Amino acid sequence: MNPGVLTDEVTKKFAEKLSSKITDQLNTGILILDTDFNIVMWNSFLEVHSTKVSNDIIGKNVFEVFSELPERWLSRKLSSVLQLGTPNFCSWEQRRHLFELPHTRPITTDCEFMAQNCTFLPMEESGKIEYISILIEDATDVCHYQGQLQKALDKLALMSRIDGLTQIYNRKHWQESLEQEFAKARRHDKALSLIMFDLDNFKQLNDHYGHQGGDQVLIEISKTIGNLLRVEDVFGRYGGEEFAVILPETSILGAIELAERICQTVANTPIKFKESNIIATVSIGVAQLTERDSHFESLIMHADDALYIAKNNGRNQVCSGSDNELLKQVSA
Ligand code: GH3
Ligand code: MG
Ligand code: MG
Repeated sequence: MNPGVLTDEVTKKFAEKLSSKITDQLNTGILILDTDFNIVMWNSFLEVHSTKVSNDIIGKNVFEVFSELPERWLSRKLSSVLQLGTPNFCSWEQRRHLFELPHTRPITTDCEFMAQNCTFLPMEESGKIEYISILIEDATDVCHYQGQLQKALDKLALMSRIDGLTQIYNRKHWQESLEQEFAKARRHDKALSLIMFDLDNFKQLNDHYGHQGGDQVLIEISKTIGNLLRVEDVFGRYGGEEFAVILPETSILGAIELAERICQTVANTPIKFKESNIIATVSIGVAQLTERDSHFESLIMHADDALYIAKNNGRNQVCSGSDNELLKQVSA
């Protein structure tokens, strides 16, 4: 026997043994398919994680063995790898997982299955693409941390819009919403109304019950009024004890009706604080967008003017007006 051939064969066998050892120790799944998508080979990673047995799957169609795979989508992807002879990729961000494999973070993550990055590689054999290798990388950790980060960012974004005491929108977000609603109402020629209200004699209330009592009133009134509004209405804290509600697609009549309900509900809803039942009242100004309002700020101005009249007329009442001539007392 030719000693050179013997050495070649020994080297080849050794290399095969070595490569199969490495393949089985990899922390990545390897699945080799033929051109009909039958399973030719897999590694230990997949065997361990899928709880399937090699003898039951080798030679079988991948879609039969892994019935959870999106067949139409994946067949198209695999066919393009075969036809073009170029690799393809699917990240966990595109599809959280392809194979339903359990992960090793069962408690700390809310994903049901291992998140995966999958690479599809064409494999040439004597100048022809005969196989596709699918590499399955466990991306659960990245997915988990990305999820945590996103949750933190969402919370921060929400916090930047919310008033810490009353948990309704803060002035900045409320004003940005008014700017948008103003533009929408103008573009689509729709009605837009505004309600602004201010607590009556709040300084006295603070002096009597203390700042904590005052805070409790602001919190409870925000809750009570929040329950009277539609989801489209935008309720915000405009300043200390001054609030505002944007009413999209609402005429002045609808706005006045709501303002009266707010005024009466506040006056009829005592607020429990320590041993006391605090009765608070509000004065309300209502305004509707008119042709003459060229900027959203003029709507605020009209509602504020109406609020001023409500205060001057004795408080605990609603006043409306689109401009100064139209200002009128609505209720007392
Ligand atoms: P009016 O009926 O004319 O509105 O009288 P008022 O006493 O309500 O008005 P004024 O503007 O004199 O007083 C508002 C008070 O609201 C003064 C301020 O200390 C209080 N205030 C503002 N923000 C808060 C807050 O977050 N918590 C508490 N407890 N009080 C606040
Ligand atoms: Mg006040
Ligand atoms: Mg005030």
